[in-house]
Amino acid sequence: MFRTENALILREVRFRESDRILTAMTPGLGKVTLAAHGALSKKSRIAAGTQQLTWSELTLFEKDGRYSVREAVTREAFPGLRRELENLALGSYIAECLELFSTEGQPEPELLQLGLNSLYALSEGLAPREKIKAAFELRLTAMEGYAPAVEVCAVCGRKEIRSPVFLQDDGVAVCRDCLREERRFLPFTSGALEAMRRVLQAPPKRFLSFGLDGEDLARLSSVSEAWLLHCAGREIPSLEYYKKL
Ligand SMILES: [Zn+2]
Repeated sequence: MFRTENALILREVRFRESDRILTAMTPGLGKVTLAAHGALSKKSRIAAGTQQLTWSELTLFEKDGRYSVREAVTREAFPGLRRELENLALGSYIAECLELFSTEGQPEPELLQLGLNSLYALSEGLAPREKIKAAFELRLTAMEGYAPAVEVCAVCGRKEIRSPVFLQDDGVAVCRDCLREERRFLPFTSGALEAMRRVLQAPPKRFLSFGLDGEDLARLSSVSEAWLLHCAGREIPSLEYYKKL
């Protein structure tokens, strides 16, 4: 049976002489594995549309619950990702996070939209990389049910958190003076804290609508990354690569 699906290609693995096995995220099927037969041969018409980090309209053929790609029309190739190595590395990290946090066969339209918006912002240079990365990480954890609790100090309950720090094992912000026991924490700033609140509350298309730079952005960045890694529960190879660049 044939069906049409838009798909964000998260990962491609070479298989046999000229085939690709894809991991893709789609509105209708959620995360799905697709076979792209002949995609690596020179004359293939599905080569471009089945590349990693491409948003494509795919014609799929389903048999016994397995899908293969029969046609692929590229809708968005995110050319800016391929122009700079840092962009490509961060794009790959975004794709790896989407794969890691999504569930096979379960449509997650908000998560897919966050991925597309982040890749588009990165490709078009709509915001600095560190800002896109931090906002993506925060929104992703929140969507998956792990929103950090930063509205008030987790100890004293005040909205105005004095000399804020972030407890990376709990995902909460507290005042430096409220921290009595020995706990692992990351230094924070009031500016970074305010930006984090805005990112978490913003409507989907405005998740990058916050101004932040210098130390504030550096703090937001390290806190967001630490929290995402805590939620993931493991190292993420593409992040290691991105950070080496
Ligand atoms: Zn407090």
